[in-house]
Amino acid sequence: MYYNLCMNKNQRIGQTRRETKRRHSNMTCRTFEIKAVSNKMNKEQKESVNGIFREAKWIRNALIRDIHCLEDNFKKVPVKVGKEIEMRELKYIGSQMKQSMVKSVHSELKALHTKKEKGEKVGALKYRSYCNSVNLKQYGITYSIDFVHNRVKIQGIKKPLYVRGLKQIPSEAEYANAKLVRKADGIYIYVTCYTKREIPVYTGHVEGVDFGIGHNLTMTDGSTIDISIPESKGTKLAAKRVNKGYKHNGRNKTGNHWRRSDKLRVAYKKDKQRRYDAANKAYHQLVYNNDLIAIQDEMIHNWHKGLFGRKIQYSAMGSVKAKLKHNSKVRVVDRSYPSTQICPRCGMLTKHPLIKRDYDCKYCGYHHDSRDQKAANSILEAVLFDHEVSLERRAQSPVEADSSAFMPKGMDCKNSSVKQEASDFSRL
Ligand SMILES: [Zn+2]
Repeated sequence: MYYNLCMNKNQRIGQTRRETKRRHSNMTCRTFEIKAVSNKMNKEQKESVNGIFREAKWIRNALIRDIHCLEDNFKKVPVKVGKEIEMRELKYIGSQMKQSMVKSVHSELKALHTKKEKGEKVGALKYRSYCNSVNLKQYGITYSIDFVHNRVKIQGIKKPLYVRGLKQIPSEAEYANAKLVRKADGIYIYVTCYTKREIPVYTGHVEGVDFGIGHNLTMTDGSTIDISIPESKGTKLAAKRVNKGYKHNGRNKTGNHWRRSDKLRVAYKKDKQRRYDAANKAYHQLVYNNDLIAIQDEMIHNWHKGLFGRKIQYSAMGSVKAKLKHNSKVRVVDRSYPSTQICPRCGMLTKHPLIKRDYDCKYCGYHHDSRDQKAANSILEAVLFDHEVSLERRAQSPVEADSSAFMPKGMDCKNSSVKQEASDFSRL
């Protein structure tokens, strides 16, 4: 690395940052989930972890009350107790964590501002009664990893935490930021790493994939992958138990409410992990057997709103698609491309209702036994003959991961044209 001697500190930081960014653009960005083993934590460690989250909450709320109330290296923070404001000392939270809290509130405000300028209705930032995520900005300072003893050292916690899951991280990885997250089932550390890009193995196969509701994924040869992992018995039971109790002012109240809702959260998470695992397997089956995969950018989110919401939710199709989109072997066909309707022989469009599972062209009489397989073929053709292809992949940077700007639900599907199949569902 070359530094100009005339540069001041900020310029040097800027240069290093630019160089890192350039180097990272040729690498793969991955996040690894690491769990702190809770029964190996001593009393002091537990106190420190909870202290960090508590103080992060104080800082956030203080900033919302008055954005200028804190200076650069603040040691105390104003906390509202009843009607009075009390200055409280910050014991656990580290300096970089403080900075990133300030930064995140600023970026949230900025996001609200841009939305307001666009003419959208926005409210104010709200006070929170909890803060369950703190950004650990820099490897080596805010956090560091000891692979030999399976421990993660975090600024503000005296003894390193004993963790599980470090074996996932490849040895040559470069560390970016991490996040300390408190969940119902324990403390997690999400480490973002940059790893060398894998050299692809060529197999000579190409594949088109059609996403659907009858079969989740249909391939060009007619083979299908179905993922369905419904709610487990345990989740149903936990959901039932949460609101079991007495009614108070029309609202359910129970003495064990928090304990039960924590149990429900853990149960939901287990279901989610099962679905994630199934999605991973489907993804790897596709990626490792093919050189090129053609998919269509469909609004699975919109199907979710229709009659088949549950079915879509259990299928994990969305995560398969999201994972595929980030792979360099995958080409994405625009969502306006009529892959279900188009005839491969004459190119004319024939609308097919959802109940009709085969394909008949009303212009030339072309027939196919499976409309999903035909759609998969059409998607692959569209990619191979290079039309209607939209590539919307972008590089992830830890700076983006920094900002936790609020994104309202459904914002991303605002200007979407709903595919024929999806609009069929809303009519059913
Ligand atoms: Zn035809």
